[in-house]
Amino acid sequence: MARESMTEMLQNARDGKYGVAAFNILDYSSFKVVVETANELEAPVIVQTSVKTINLWGYDAIASWYKELTKNASVPVALHVDHCTDLEVIKNCIKAGWSSVMIDASSKPFEENLEISRKVVELASAANVSVEAELGEIGGVEDDLIIEEEDATLADPAKAKIFCEELDLAVFAPAIGTAHGVYSGEPKIAFDRIEEIAKTTGVPLALHGGTGLSDEVFKKCIGMGCAKVNISTQLKHTYINSFTDFKKENPNLFEPVKFIEYQIKRLKNDVKENIILFGGAGKART
Ligand SMILES: [Zn+2]
Repeated sequence: MARESMTEMLQNARDGKYGVAAFNILDYSSFKVVVETANELEAPVIVQTSVKTINLWGYDAIASWYKELTKNASVPVALHVDHCTDLEVIKNCIKAGWSSVMIDASSKPFEENLEISRKVVELASAANVSVEAELGEIGGVEDDLIIEEEDATLADPAKAKIFCEELDLAVFAPAIGTAHGVYSGEPKIAFDRIEEIAKTTGVPLALHGGTGLSDEVFKKCIGMGCAKVNISTQLKHTYINSFTDFKKENPNLFEPVKFIEYQIKRLKNDVKENIILFGGAGKART
């Protein structure tokens, strides 16, 4: 086990009706928290990097963390690039050792999205790297990409079927009413759309914009075929709030290690809660 693509873990998750948590990490310490917690819970896990995070640390550094942290892991861990629009970045990820990539050409017209995604599948499959592709437009903010709520469009089931027939995807990300970032009101999830797309495509689905959904919504989506559940915003908030909370409690303390230790504790709680909520604990047991 240890370093793996997403293909098998998501097939197993869809068949077993549980979700594999996919956490957007920010640095070495959050990467370590995710791998160690998954290991303790015997859960398969996906570590995601935004392109912004890659630009901050570089390909080789992140790839070396992946190697180091999974060396003694007994669970499958995928390293995935989230919402990538740039083929060059995808090529570099594959070369550096990512086990999975997401091509997001969802802002392009259908045929163009299909062509770009097809190219990525070709590149990736030659290197045994799994692929996620998106159809429709998921609302909210992801990196520097802002989709206003009224501009977010749900994926069309008929087009989703063609898209998934044409492409060999490990996971398919249809826009189904969730949004990235913080929900301003009650999220309007198109459950009927999820159900229909899961059935017609037969491909494990990715649930984007997970932060802020209720436990019931998560469970319903997972039961319908959302095998990959993305958690990004929650970790970003905990990452920042852990420092500010700790500073409030210890106004005269200037020992960074203490801050980092506290941050690790808080991040670990989040990672643990999500893995358990999605049903992933114990699923990596052989
Ligand atoms: Zn997303």
